[in-house]
Amino acid sequence: YQAKRDRTGVEVYESKRDSNTPDRLGLLGDLRRALDAGDVELHYQPKVRFDGQVVGLEALVRWVHPDRGRVPPDEFIAIAESSGLMPYLTEYVLESALGQVARWRSQGLFVPVAVNVSPRDVHTPGFAGAVAARLARHGVPAGALQLEITEHVLLEDPQRAADTLAGLTGHGVKMSLDDFGTGYSSLVHLRRLPVSELKIDRSFVARLAIDTEDAEIVRCTIDLAHSLGLVVVAEGVEDDETWERLRDLSCDAVQGWLVAAAMPPHEATSWLLARGETGWHRPPPAPALEP
Ligand code: C2E
Ligand code: MG
Ligand code: MG
Ligand code: MG
Repeated sequence: YQAKRDRTGVEVYESKRDSNTPDRLGLLGDLRRALDAGDVELHYQPKVRFDGQVVGLEALVRWVHPDRGRVPPDEFIAIAESSGLMPYLTEYVLESALGQVARWRSQGLFVPVAVNVSPRDVHTPGFAGAVAARLARHGVPAGALQLEITEHVLLEDPQRAADTLAGLTGHGVKMSLDDFGTGYSSLVHLRRLPVSELKIDRSFVARLAIDTEDAEIVRCTIDLAHSLGLVVVAEGVEDDETWERLRDLSCDAVQGWLVAAAMPPHEATSWLLARGETGWHRPPPAPALEP
């Protein structure tokens, strides 16, 4: 048996993996070709504070398959992760996102961008240095890049993960803990991971306004994060009531369809420009509930 490698050195097929159905292998090959061809896009979703300040944009990968149509990121990211294509996908996303950050900066839009990285990336030797080199190549300061990680980075080799994350923060890259509250959460991880931001998973935020237990979980998470000096972002905010509740709980920022869905680059640019030249301006005020 010999693993095939494409021109990027990415392992594309391992015959010993029986779980790779023909369908998955087909998608994997298509994804690799789409990345080679530049057919994978990034959309950008704003993170805003309650005073309207835009604190960043999250880059979310979008792939429209020629025959199958839009493939959900969760689906093809799982395929990329289990095949060894993930580092290539992450390079692609970082390259694309940093190019966009540089263009926005040249337009006077100094807004940081967050990129999701998978546990695999954090365990790739030399990842921190490669990110720093990429930043330099684009002339983008490290403070304009944020990396979103999940607690899963600690599953495989906690020491290596810690080293990589220390390397990244040492370069000035900000780390954010994504999907907090799902699956593998433990308070210990909050202490171990050098993150400056915590994102409360959408599953808790969605029912915040109607479920008292979820509301209590969110309240405790915000208080805990604040006591550790972290900025708290709630994801998946879809309505005014949830916005109001989060504001009352002293959450720092929100992300969600109430503010904006993830937008293609040109739309995100218009969105940012409509809110000021500097990227530090208020979105349209949330509908006032008080007279
Ligand atoms: P995530 O990082 O937690 O991203 C948030 C997800 O919630 C996105 O789904 C976003 O479109 C969706 N969302 C945002 N606002 C709302 C809302 O108000 N309501 C609802 N119902 N959903 C909302 P998406 O784009 O399908 O991404 C799914 C996951 O895929 C992401 O979750 C992230 O873990 C992963 N992902 C996306 N892009 C990348 C990438 O470039 N690299 C890696 N490694 N993972 C990525
Ligand atoms: Mg994320
Ligand atoms: Mg998230
Ligand atoms: Mg999530």
